[in-house]
Amino acid sequence: MTSSLKAILRKPAVPGNTLTEQSTSRGRPYVAFGESSEKTKKRRIEELVLKYTLEELSFAVKELSKKSNSQVEFKEFKKHSLTLQETLALYLQLDLSQRKYNLLRSIINSVHSEFLPSIYKLRQFRDSLLPKDIINTVQGSEINLQQLLDYTLKSILKSILDKEYIKSETLTLTCKYGFDGSSGHSTYKQVFSSTEMTDEYLFLVAMSPLNLSDEKGYIFWNNPRSSSKFFCRPIKFIFVKENSYLVKTEVLRLQQEINDLKPIIINFQNKNYTVNFKFHFTMLDGSCINILSETNSTQTCFICGATPKQMNTKEVLKRPVKIENFNFGMSSLHSWIRSFECLLRIAYRLSFISWQVKGTEKKFQIVTN
Ligand SMILES: [Zn+2]
Repeated sequence: MTSSLKAILRKPAVPGNTLTEQSTSRGRPYVAFGESSEKTKKRRIEELVLKYTLEELSFAVKELSKKSNSQVEFKEFKKHSLTLQETLALYLQLDLSQRKYNLLRSIINSVHSEFLPSIYKLRQFRDSLLPKDIINTVQGSEINLQQLLDYTLKSILKSILDKEYIKSETLTLTCKYGFDGSSGHSTYKQVFSSTEMTDEYLFLVAMSPLNLSDEKGYIFWNNPRSSSKFFCRPIKFIFVKENSYLVKTEVLRLQQEINDLKPIIINFQNKNYTVNFKFHFTMLDGSCINILSETNSTQTCFICGATPKQMNTKEVLKRPVKIENFNFGMSSLHSWIRSFECLLRIAYRLSFISWQVKGTEKKFQIVTN
């Protein structure tokens, strides 16, 4: 066995192939043999082809296969290697850094050759899923809502159209949106254009798709975890402390952007789908609701305006309610501690309307509801 052939065939997927970190040397990054282009592969083996005969080379491959059982491994890797989509999901779920991913990849790929793709390919794939026109400034980032929805829809349609045939050509994507501020972040020596801006605070505007349905209300895709950060699509973030002026202007801006949305026509498998949008303004916390409903205190109900003193009197039931504030959700101030548990129990039984759950059919409905 020649040492140079051994070196090529055993070349690790990641240089080093050990638990050490990647080399930080400059220049063109090293690309594993399996991931190189046809041209690069030919260039790398050029020396071997010129130096050795076909007989010698095939004998060397046989010997190497026997030793490392690489033929068996190769077949298994074909069956078990992760797709780019699966790898990206893993990468995001584990919140891996580039260094951690490369370390994990070097260990796994040393057992199952090319089980995980390179970070370069993974980034290329991730970038293909991201909208192109992101406006980045010193104070934050922003994206066009129409473009964001376009990308979101394409991903959803791609995931369902392979499995399901959609008869209807007009669909509706229902989404929720809202915003929230957070504080207590580390401050760096970043220079901002205004004194109001500081990286100690962050204000985020975001949306999340809930479901995709047709005109008859049949749901083709339903968000399995509507409150998960993995389904949350940021629209904008700025380094400003949440305040009433900001909240009010953002609501107006967003509502205008939603009103201006055009239905998206997507061609998939030679069929045109027209998708309309429905938005619910529900991703809000108490402080944002107070600002928008002009309720001065968090202890005052934003629906009937009852203060803590008026809360436990009989007269509270007669108070006029602000119907326009219903879309912010229920005010928890009137609720008893376990009231939501009670509401949930009632909701589970809505399909058969009886408190007692008898019989396997009802028990099954309780579980699936
Ligand atoms: Zn109230």
